[in-house]
Amino acid sequence: MFIDAHLHVGMFLDIKSLTECASKYQIFPIAVATTLKESSNLLKTLDSLNLKLPVFVGIHPWYLTQEQFDETLMENLLKDKRVVGIGECGLDGKIATPLDTQLSVLEQHLEFAKHYQKPVNLHIRSCHGQLTKALKKYQGFLSGMIHNTTFSYEVCKNYLDLGFKLSFGHHILFNQDKLNQVLKKVGLDNIVLETDFDYVHTGLYDPSLIIKEYEYLSAISSCELSKLQEQLCTNVSNLIGTLNEFNLYC
Ligand SMILES: [Zn+2]
Repeated sequence: MFIDAHLHVGMFLDIKSLTECASKYQIFPIAVATTLKESSNLLKTLDSLNLKLPVFVGIHPWYLTQEQFDETLMENLLKDKRVVGIGECGLDGKIATPLDTQLSVLEQHLEFAKHYQKPVNLHIRSCHGQLTKALKKYQGFLSGMIHNTTFSYEVCKNYLDLGFKLSFGHHILFNQDKLNQVLKKVGLDNIVLETDFDYVHTGLYDPSLIIKEYEYLSAISSCELSKLQEQLCTNVSNLIGTLNEFNLYC
């Protein structure tokens, strides 16, 4: 099984086709939302399709201009058994929304994650210092993954020391020596793979991307594909619990 650990399922117009395609290629997607409204709509769509995908709910920093953090809605979303985590949330140093505003909403997410003991799925762009400072306040109480890892090993190490896994996407396929070295140093027990929304504009799920990422990681780490699949499945299960109760393949 290929786990796509960070996929914006709710952004696809035809979620039924997406899951059918994933199923055909033995891909197990983990849905990550960008707003609470989208999270809520996604759960309703999954209901109508009788699907039990694991879902992360939260507000992506890019969408803070569209939506405020609604604590009541978040509480209600967390009552749904399919909601396994909180995110995508985080910090982005390259957007107009002031960092203070972003930090305050991030803390709201982290408080919920701590209280409900859920992993977080984190977005970060160019303000690692502020993110690690925010996470340090919760050290020992939070787990999760840092999404779209393209950072130096030193930055990765800060997140590993805080108990986070690192999620890598299509950048690994560029075969850059620097990122190859980072992957090797981070180690397979700390890695998950993702496709995010790189091709969502096509409207179709592209199964080849996550498969290529697995094959690439298998090759550069000299780990058999089946062993890699087992390891990454363990990594994801360690964060969100067993995947057995989700019935994508039924
Ligand atoms: Zn994302």
